Amino acid sequence: MTRRRYVFGNWKMHRTKLEAVEFVKAIIPLLSPISLRERDAVGIAPAFTSIEAMKVLEDNLPFRFLPGAQNVFWENQGAFTGEISIEMVKEAGARFVLVGHSERRMFFAETDEVIAKKLSAVRTAGLLPVFCVGESLSEKEQGKTEEVLRSQLLGGLASFPDIDEIVIAYEPVWAIGSGKAASAKDVLGAHACCRQVIAEKFSPKAAEKVSILYGGSVKPDNVNELANVDGVDGFLVGGASLSASSFADIIVRFYQEV
Ligand code: PEP
Repeated sequence: MTRRRYVFGNWKMHRTKLEAVEFVKAIIPLLSPISLRERDAVGIAPAFTSIEAMKVLEDNLPFRFLPGAQNVFWENQGAFTGEISIEMVKEAGARFVLVGHSERRMFFAETDEVIAKKLSAVRTAGLLPVFCVGESLSEKEQGKTEEVLRSQLLGGLASFPDIDEIVIAYEPVWAIGSGKAASAKDVLGAHACCRQVIAEKFSPKAAEKVSILYGGSVKPDNVNELANVDGVDGFLVGGASLSASSFADIIVRFYQEV
């Protein structure tokens, strides 16, 4: 089965709208020569204030480009100061939403229950949820990686009727922003574990179909090796997506490699 492939950028709390516009201008010529299968896509989740600036990429690149959001609240509207609704990011042009990123779990105390609500709301609204899971360093050192992945996946997907229209991103917390990506062996094992959990909860066919990305210090110089790991369907890229040249390099290398 050929799964959908994605390379998504996560800009976190970086880049003003002006800087986003400059980035867009710089990356268009770098990406214009490449062609992707119709099912594949590239996307960027910038700050909310820059989602609209990504529309230029959606309109001008010769393949599917998806503007995204880094977070949303699950209610449609109400007295939730500081939150943003799915309808609001959709209106700004978002087509996918990151849910369960480790920085949201860590700094904003997002629990599996909160993540489950967000995943369901995003999917119901017709946007693509990119569901992030991954173990911390101490969990890895205690040999608990598979246990953590299982519990995060089952917690977040508790009320999901099926696994269609969702992407999973395996992001070991210790690899995020550390400059040290997980080894091919670690990624292989973690992706296989995620697929096994999906097979048990939904079906082996669903597990075969779901796209699973890797995230954590992906850079142009390690993308080829990681792209060749069985079960890796693309990447979620933080730091290296902030530079037009390194993000374009990752995209070109990945889609040429696989
Ligand atoms: C991320 O924030 O999702 C991420 C993978 O960051 P980095 O690529 O910088 O490790």
